[in-house]
Amino acid sequence: MALRTDWSDRACPIARSLDVLGDPWSLLILREVFLGNHRFDTIRDRLDVADTVLSRRLNAMVEDELLNRVAYAGAARPRYDYTLTDAGRDALPVLHALARWGTTHRPRTPRMKISCTTCGQESLSADWCSTCQAALTVDNTAWRTPARPKETVALSSS
Ligand SMILES: [Zn+2]
Repeated sequence: MALRTDWSDRACPIARSLDVLGDPWSLLILREVFLGNHRFDTIRDRLDVADTVLSRRLNAMVEDELLNRVAYAGAARPRYDYTLTDAGRDALPVLHALARWGTTHRPRTPRMKISCTTCGQESLSADWCSTCQAALTVDNTAWRTPARPKETVALSSS
């Protein structure tokens, strides 16, 4: 049974996007993949999510073309890396906007520092560097998250 109505044919582009990006687990999985965590076990441990839930979400995200599933060698049974597709990479400003909105509007929400590695400055915008105006992409963005306040992590798509 579906959890909600299918919005994939709505006229509103926000509703259509939410049909793919509206599940909280999907956005948190994207966060982990941007941080360089590409494997099932690592994502499961970082999110503290049940195997069945994670497996279902990853399958849906591959089907919706947010993630690529790539087998890696050396494991006794088939194991996969999950990497970002172009559509997955393009969700980066959505995560930035959520982080900024939460810090502004949800009480006691810690700040996440979003930096442009092109100029080295913190960006106050979700999609553009507010200092050098470069578009923020997986290739020129670093995060300092409240979970690891002393570590700045350059984002990764693969
Ligand atoms: Zn910059």
